[in-house]
Amino acid sequence: MIGSGPNGLAGALTLARAGLRVEVYEEQATLGGGARTAELTLPGFRHDTCSAIHPLGRASPAFRALELDVDWVEPPAAVAHPFDDGTAVVLERSVEATASQLGSDGHAYARLVGPLAEAWAGIAPVLLGPYPPPPRALAALARSLGAGVLGRSARLALSDARSVAESLFAGERARGFFAGHAAHSLLPLERRPSAGFGLSLAVLGHALGWGFPRGGSAGIVEALVEELSRRGCVFHTSARVDALPAADIVLADVMPRELVRLGGGRLPARYVAALSRYRHGPGAFKLDWALDGAIPWRAEGCRRAATVHLGGTLDEISRSERAAWSNDPGGRPFVLLAQHSLFDSTRAPAGKHTAWAYCHVPSGSRTDMTAAIEDQVERFAPGFRELILARSALAPAELEARNRNLVGGDLNGGVMDLGQLVFRPVRRANPYRTPLAGVYLCSSATPPGGGVHGMCGLAAAQLALRELGRLS
Ligand SMILES: Cc1cc2nc3c(=O)[nH]c(=O)nc-3n(C[C@H](O)[C@H](O)[C@H](O)COP(=O)(O)OP(=O)(O)OC[C@H]3O[C@@H](n4cnc5c(N)ncnc54)[C@H](O)[C@@H]3O)c2cc1C
Repeated sequence: MIGSGPNGLAGALTLARAGLRVEVYEEQATLGGGARTAELTLPGFRHDTCSAIHPLGRASPAFRALELDVDWVEPPAAVAHPFDDGTAVVLERSVEATASQLGSDGHAYARLVGPLAEAWAGIAPVLLGPYPPPPRALAALARSLGAGVLGRSARLALSDARSVAESLFAGERARGFFAGHAAHSLLPLERRPSAGFGLSLAVLGHALGWGFPRGGSAGIVEALVEELSRRGCVFHTSARVDALPAADIVLADVMPRELVRLGGGRLPARYVAALSRYRHGPGAFKLDWALDGAIPWRAEGCRRAATVHLGGTLDEISRSERAAWSNDPGGRPFVLLAQHSLFDSTRAPAGKHTAWAYCHVPSGSRTDMTAAIEDQVERFAPGFRELILARSALAPAELEARNRNLVGGDLNGGVMDLGQLVFRPVRRANPYRTPLAGVYLCSSATPPGGGVHGMCGLAAAQLALRELGRLS
């Protein structure tokens, strides 16, 4: 196993559970890739260095199949989206309670997400499962949703967020709320399928909530490592791999350009050319704070959710996301903020708090977004700055230095537009298989893409086991 991100470790555990002897090689000094936790600011303040909130982890068929023992924290509400008038729309578990905050748009919201939230169990294997989804999963979903609802939902999910928000909702509150969810796509909100991200994340909030592991994202990695250790897996840290090793199976939790480097001329030229055309998206600029108290939100609803979307209206969020695709990060950034310590006392010393936030910036941008991000928090929580005891800032180059998979700071492992949603990293019948026998790609550059869910690892490992004759 090359790389120990959540996909790498899920793949490694799948192999180990099939009885194979597994060794994991990780370049960094600690295991976990995008799911690590560290005292980035002051002693006693535990921060997630990358991923922080885990609707995909909670929903992951891989983590369920691997029977991971994770202590999940369930905040009372998933997301809060404050506005300048001091109110917020809150993504509650109940569709009705959420819709009731959207005035005359409430009915359209409930009609959009209600049936999907009820059918979530059937959606998960299609949305998060290995590519291509098994025909029986699609047939079961069509039966449970009904062909009409399935067709409408699929059409909307494949659309761009702006057109869906503007066609379904008349008011700024519903439009802005939907835009905040869609912006997780890291796509301009006018590009397809940004609406699908908005829809899926809202539905997940209703179906399962947006939980996170007690103590930090590293909790997911610790659960994987514990299971692997019980099965005799050997871990090598501070151990960068520079060439594909000899083994019955090599799983590579790496980006396409790294696979080319590791191939060292052994990969066919056509495959290398296809990998070289793979596109990475914008980067992230990330801040973590040690705080002297809880964030003093003006909107009461913001205290009930671990995730807060700071960007106001659809137009404002759209401008910010478009800027991340140009070389001009101007304007107010759309900020994704997490406040774990309100719901998890292990994150900070008594009476103190942590907060985690990032915004999207052009790939590899060197612009310091600290003041712009803190201005956005201050806008919705006056007095926030006075609470800051210490901060850590990670620009795209620093993120990449801590994990070479974060190319230019791209946290999705490559653009997730229609061209690269399922055909990642190349257009071939099975994206996990490489032309070299026994070598498989299992990073977020394969379907279903970015996020801590381990599904790429599970899918690649299951394929590898089938091809080795160890799985029917
Ligand atoms: C700022 C930020 C915020 C995020 N927030 C969230 C969130 O809230 N929720 C969520 O679900 N996701 C989030 N993500 C995305 C998530 O972290 C990734 O999608 C996920 O970690 C991808 O998992 P992976 O296993 O494919 O790769 P990674 O987690 O990136 O792991 C790859 C590992 O491989 C190692 N490696 C690479 N090449 C080599 C080599 N040649 N030799 C040895 N080791 C190598 C790397 O060092 C790394 O440890 C966030 C990411 C970032 C950066």
